[in-house]
Amino acid sequence: MNTNQYEKNLEQLGAFEIASKMLKLAKNNENNNSYLNAGRGNPNWINTQARLAFPRFMEFGVKESESTMHEDNLAGYTTLEGIAGRFDATLDLSKTEDVFIKESLDYAVNTLGIDRDALVKEFTDAIIGNNYPVPSRCLVNTEKIINAYLQDTLYNGVPLADSTQVFPTEGGTAAICYIFNSLKKNNLIKEGDKIAINTPIFTPYIQIPKLTTYEMVEVNLVASEENNWEVPVDALDVLEDESIKAFFLVNPSNPGSRALDSRLLKRIKKICEKRKDLIIITDDVYGTFSEDFQTVYSVAPYNTLLVYSYSKLYGCTGWRLGCIAMNKKNVFDDLIAHLPEEKLKLLDEDYGIVTLEPRTLPFIDRLTADSRSIGLYHTSGLSTPQQAMIALFSLTHLVCNDGDKYIESTKKIVAKRYHLLFEELGIKEDNTRENAKYYSLIDIYTIAARLYGKDLEIYMRKNFEEIDFLLNLAKEEGVVIMEGVGFAAPAGVLRVSHANLTDDAYIKIAKRIKVLLKEYNDKMKSSLELRD
Ligand SMILES: *Cc1c(COP(=O)(O)O)cnc(C)c1O
Repeated sequence: MNTNQYEKNLEQLGAFEIASKMLKLAKNNENNNSYLNAGRGNPNWINTQARLAFPRFMEFGVKESESTMHEDNLAGYTTLEGIAGRFDATLDLSKTEDVFIKESLDYAVNTLGIDRDALVKEFTDAIIGNNYPVPSRCLVNTEKIINAYLQDTLYNGVPLADSTQVFPTEGGTAAICYIFNSLKKNNLIKEGDKIAINTPIFTPYIQIPKLTTYEMVEVNLVASEENNWEVPVDALDVLEDESIKAFFLVNPSNPGSRALDSRLLKRIKKICEKRKDLIIITDDVYGTFSEDFQTVYSVAPYNTLLVYSYSKLYGCTGWRLGCIAMNKKNVFDDLIAHLPEEKLKLLDEDYGIVTLEPRTLPFIDRLTADSRSIGLYHTSGLSTPQQAMIALFSLTHLVCNDGDKYIESTKKIVAKRYHLLFEELGIKEDNTRENAKYYSLIDIYTIAARLYGKDLEIYMRKNFEEIDFLLNLAKEEGVVIMEGVGFAAPAGVLRVSHANLTDDAYIKIAKRIKVLLKEYNDKMKSSLELRD
C-alpha cells in the first residue's frame, strides 16, 4: 500500500484512534527526540484534599462497624445515633485533611441544613460500601451537595439548586451513553430526526448519532478560527426550525475551548421561550476553566439537561465521576406525557415492571432504570464510594470562603501552557474570558503560510493528505497531537491538549512543528528545482 492510500485509510478512523496509532511511531521517532503526547485530555494534576479525606472515613467506618460485631477480620455495621460525635472525636485538627472534613461537615449543616449524624453516616457507609445505592439514583445528602456545587460553579448566580435533580454516573462518558439510550427508548428522538451540534465538537457527539442504532441527521453550527472558535449568533437561528428536535453542545467547547458568551446565551434563552419542545443537552465538563462561566442550563432550565464531569478539574479520570442534572420541571417529562397513546402503552409495559405508575416516572429516573436495562433498576446507581468521592470533591470548592485557589491554579496551569505554545509559534493569543484554554486549535496551513508564504500552504494542501503532517510529526519529531477533522474542524486544524505535559514541553512542541514545516518547505524548493 502506498503512503497516500495508507493515509487515506487512516483518515477513516476516529481522531482518538488515529492518535493511538501514532503513539508507537512517536515513541520510536527517527530523531531520538523525547516523546511528547499532547493528544489526550487527561490532566497531569490531581486534587489532594478530597483524596486525603476519603480514607479518614474508611478508617472510622471500620472501627465503628466493629462496635456492633467483631471477630478477627469481620465487623458489623455502623450506628446512626451519636455517630457524628464519635467521628468528630477522631479528628485531629493539626492535620489539614481533618480540618477540611470538619469545615465540610460544618458547611453541610449550617449552609445546606443537613443533619450532621445523617451526613457522617451517609459518607461512612458510602465509603465502606456495604449497601446498594439507596435511593438508586443518588444518595440523599450527596445530591444536595452536588446541587450546591453545580450551582456555585456553573449557574453564575441563578438559583436552581433546589429545583434540580441529579443522577451521578460513571464519568461524563456514561452520562452521554445513558442519555442517547434513554432519549431513543422514550421516543424523544427517532431515526431520521435532526439534531444540531456545535462544531468542532468532542468526537462521540458526531459518531454516536450516526451509529445504525440512532441514525440521526446532524446539523452543524460551525465555529471558525476567524471567530476565535465562537459559534456566530446567527447560526443559532436554525434552532427555531421545529424539525430540529435537539441541540447537543459542549460548552466550553472541546476542541475549541470556548464558552458561549452572554449574547449567545440570551439568544438561546429567547429561542427556548418560543420552542417549548426543544431538547438541549449541554456538556459542561470544562465550565470551571473559563472565567465567569454560565451554563445554558441556567438560562433555559426547562429545556436543558446538563452533563458534568469531575474528571478534568480534579484529575480523577480513573475514578469515573460525573453526573446528569436536570430540572424538576422539564421538557423531557412533558414530551413523554404527550406521546401518542400506543407509544405510551409500550412504555407502560417496560417501566411497569418497576413502578405501578409508569406514566409518572420522571425522565431522570428512566435514565437510572434504563442504565441497568430496567430489570436491574433495584441495583442501579453509581457505586457509593464513587458518590462519596464526588461529594468530597464538591466540598473542596464549597468550603472556600473567598475564591477557590485550587480552581484558580488549574486555570493558571493551562493558560501558561497555552501562552508558551502560542508565543513560540507566533500565533496571536485569545485572552478573552470565554477562552478556557484547556485545548487549542492550531491551523498548520496558516502557520506554514505565515512562515514561508502562501506557496507552501498550496504545496502542502495539493501534495499531501492532511494527516501526512501529523504522521511525520510523530515519526520524525516524536510529537503526537490530534487531527481536527474527526471533531469536524477544517483540514489542517490540529488539537493540542494543554492538560497533560510539563510547561516546557509546549515550547518543544512548537519548535518541532517549525522544524517539520521547514522540511516541507525544503521539499517544495527541491521539487521546484527539479522542474526547472
Ligand atoms: C473528557 C470529556 C468527557 C468525558 O469525561 P469522563 O468524565 O472522563 O468520562 C465528556 N465530555 C467531554 C466534552 C470531554 O472532553
